[in-house]
Amino acid sequence: MAKYHLTLAHLYGDLMNTYGDIGNVNALQYYARQMDTDIAVKVISIEDDFDPNKFDIALFGGGQDYEQTVVSKDIQSKKAGIQEFIEDDKPMLAICGGYQLLGHYYISAAGEKIPGIGVLDHYTLSQDHHRFIGNITIQNEETGQKYHGFENHNGRTFLGKGERPLGMVLSGHGNNGDDKTEGAIHKSTFCSYFHGPILTRNGELAKRLLIKALENKYPQADLSQQKALTIAPTF
Ligand code: GLN
Repeated sequence: MAKYHLTLAHLYGDLMNTYGDIGNVNALQYYARQMDTDIAVKVISIEDDFDPNKFDIALFGGGQDYEQTVVSKDIQSKKAGIQEFIEDDKPMLAICGGYQLLGHYYISAAGEKIPGIGVLDHYTLSQDHHRFIGNITIQNEETGQKYHGFENHNGRTFLGKGERPLGMVLSGHGNNGDDKTEGAIHKSTFCSYFHGPILTRNGELAKRLLIKALENKYPQADLSQQKALTIAPTF
């Protein structure tokens, strides 16, 4: 029996799961076990309520334009809960289509405007008959950590107020192919275009999310063993 217990909301885990993004759940559980922590996972999907008080950590994967259109309609009713979760500084990871839907809107490959929930201040445009596809490496400016992944997106995202990039592009395209930013960070919400899945290849990010979730839930706990966990590079 683990000492610590976390509950994870897998937002639209049945619809938003391109390129094996569900591997992020497995990676979190793998690292959590080494931190004497278990994670109960609940998929929150169409017509489910999202109560931010019931969850310690959240994942939101990528999706095709069609699935994003379906999720876009449903997620509007969960906006208040998701906003509260984010502003309470609870850790969330949003990938690609999930990242786009946390922002104001995404213009699909067909030119359709798919509304997001605007809890983060970015927006996403389309590109004509082109996608950003390939391996990508970025560097986080605060920690100096390098993250590795695989991007495949039509969207070109532009960051807004209160957002800083997850990293600056060393190779690849990133948010929009122009400003060298990739992903977004706001409070403890991390967004990225990286598949791979991102946490299996970048365990330091998994560790960051888990430590934050444990600190929030167990403010009195001595987490020195958890913080000392060494993450072997897996890329
Ligand atoms: N459909 C979106 C795009 O093409 C997101 C893709 C994804 O999640 N992989 O930009």
